[in-house]
Amino acid sequence: MVSRVIPVDGFDLVIFGGTGDLARRKILPGLFRRFCAGQMPEDARIIGAARSEMDDAAFRETVAEAIREFGGAQGADEALAEAFLERVGYEHVDATGETGWESLKGRLRDGVVRAFYFSVAPSLFGALAERLRSFGLADDESRVVVEKPFGKDLETAKALNATLAEHFDETQIYRIDHYLGKETVQNLMAVRFGNMLFEPLWNAQYVDHIQITVAETVSVAGRGSYYDTSGAMRDMVQNHLMQLLCLIAMEPPARFNPDAVRDEKLKVIRALDPVDHHQVVRGQYEADDTQPGYRTHVDDLRSTTESFVALKCHISNWRWAGTPFYLRTGKMLRSRTSEIAVVFKDAPHSIFGPEAGTHRNVLAIRLQPNEGMTLGVTIKEPGPGGMRLVDVPLDMTFAEALGPDAEEVPDAYERLIMDVIRGNQTLFMRGDEVEAAWAWTDPIIAGWKRRGDVPKPYDPGSNGPEDALMLMHRDGRKWREIKA
Ligand code: NAD
Repeated sequence: MVSRVIPVDGFDLVIFGGTGDLARRKILPGLFRRFCAGQMPEDARIIGAARSEMDDAAFRETVAEAIREFGGAQGADEALAEAFLERVGYEHVDATGETGWESLKGRLRDGVVRAFYFSVAPSLFGALAERLRSFGLADDESRVVVEKPFGKDLETAKALNATLAEHFDETQIYRIDHYLGKETVQNLMAVRFGNMLFEPLWNAQYVDHIQITVAETVSVAGRGSYYDTSGAMRDMVQNHLMQLLCLIAMEPPARFNPDAVRDEKLKVIRALDPVDHHQVVRGQYEADDTQPGYRTHVDDLRSTTESFVALKCHISNWRWAGTPFYLRTGKMLRSRTSEIAVVFKDAPHSIFGPEAGTHRNVLAIRLQPNEGMTLGVTIKEPGPGGMRLVDVPLDMTFAEALGPDAEEVPDAYERLIMDVIRGNQTLFMRGDEVEAAWAWTDPIIAGWKRRGDVPKPYDPGSNGPEDALMLMHRDGRKWREIKA
């Protein structure tokens, strides 16, 4: 999908939390790569703002290190790094006090796009928004970017939305879900709405079910104290998996513009039925010979937070009535695999007789690894001796299909930050979407609490708890394998 590039003459991007982990690993290296790709206007400036006391030179040194470590192939190019660093500055700012604000204001220029990235704890969003206005740094044209987690339930998300709305219009607020910045996720829309082939079949009449899997191999070690207050439902399902569900299930928007797309996504969330607790499986990974289990990682031997969730849900509308959607995500699983699989129904009648077996078309959209798509089609098994059928994949790995251009595909953060600068909100969550998603997940989480639910243990490196397999087996279906 060729993105429309809106020319921007220059920008001032302030990264609150510029010394933090996210800025170091994602935001700053992402900006560097866009700079290398020639997509950053000449007049761009990036200002780190955080609690640490340091000057421009010291901050540039930390940025240089981040680029070397996370900047990709060009990270080692000193001339490029030097040219990028000329655009980088730093201001010591206290989000909750008076320090640094006047000075930061003095650095900002008139006549260029102003964007403020809140890469700090959500508890600071209100203080930042308030000071951006009261110190006169932000105006009605400025943009603010906020990171997940966007609340921990409907109530906190509403409060956060209300706080931001006191100072900024919805058109100025960019809520990041980095899944929406992934090439394949956008490709979902291109595949669905750019081809005649799929859309006529994209409904309950032809689709048996849809599976969405986001499997991770990492543990929660190192971020246990945050994770244990969240769990897989809040950390992954409420945002990333639901966004994928929306894109796969939504009606075609009238055009590819922010509100048209987000209106359709919102309708999907609102059409989701409440989930019966028998249709949800929670899991928690155990220890193995090489490393401790979840409870040790979060330093709470009685923790009942889930590191895995699988669930079955239904969308009550004309398109999807009767087609279940199965979602699963977890830590410490067999491999790092994210994919959406659209499993089509059997052909209505087999002319080849029972010995040919049943075969189903599956369209698998891989988000990682090897972003791409595979369409399973049924053909005749080669050779003599009657009509035996076999499934073969029509495989398209973007990196192969698109050749060297695919290597230029920007990482999710790069794309999203540049969309902020261009003023394109299509790939950002609107406030009402976030609230609707919480309104759907909150009762599931509340039900666990009410029933004193304890997650099922699962082995590290597995596909999750047995009960998750049963969730599908009961329906005569099975999960696609998480390949090692
Ligand atoms: P971090 O703890 O590494 O960094 C926090 C940053 O905030 C630091 O630069 C610190 O100086 C600054 N800060 C803290 N208090 C401040 C104050 N009073 N005034 C000014 N600056 C202050 O955090 P992080 O991992 O970079 O995460 C930042 C945000 O992004 C959080 O909301 C987090 O949930 C979210 N997030 C992080 C990741 C990740 O991979 N790290 C992924 C997704 C979302």
